[in-house]
Amino acid sequence: MTAACPSCSTADHTLLVTAALNDPRGELDRPTRGLLDVPREPKSLSPGSTVLYVLAGLTGALLLTSFFALLQAEGQEFANDATALVVYLLFTTVLAVAGWLVRREARRRRLEQGGWPVSYEQWTLVHKVWRVAWLCRACRVAFFPLGALRPDFPASPPLRYEHFQDWLNETARQTELAGGFLPAAGTPATGTPAA
Ligand SMILES: [Zn+2]
Repeated sequence: MTAACPSCSTADHTLLVTAALNDPRGELDRPTRGLLDVPREPKSLSPGSTVLYVLAGLTGALLLTSFFALLQAEGQEFANDATALVVYLLFTTVLAVAGWLVRREARRRRLEQGGWPVSYEQWTLVHKVWRVAWLCRACRVAFFPLGALRPDFPASPPLRYEHFQDWLNETARQTELAGGFLPAAGTPATGTPAA
């Protein structure tokens, strides 16, 4: 399959973005690859919650150690190990719960700020849109041919690489708002949030 570039109207230098990125000759330089690569999955963890989870993991390891020590302990040693076990159990539980709360709060804030995508499901929409994107190496533009996502999907204008990621997110977002994998209504303006 070939697609004509909306800028130069030829298919001489066009190929799928995915093919360009996988090209073993590596004709795309590093910054360009960064602009065209698939957006990263939204971070499900906030840095704060990651720290708490790591600490919970460490106390969890201590908990296990004291559990095995307890199995072999006797007398006063048993009492000490049992106390340590309870303390570690408490710490692990508190840290894990705190990590979960911090993570939930971070996600809520991100949603409030209009961040998108915030969930894995939303990210898969972005990924689907990304997979059907084309580029023209001569014009250094990305584009979506007519019917790229669905038969009635309108062809996009040439998109400068710098605007490519915004366009992906916006198209996927409109798809979600439309309740499924429907064509985006027109081309979203880059940089301005959709109404
Ligand atoms: Zn072109």
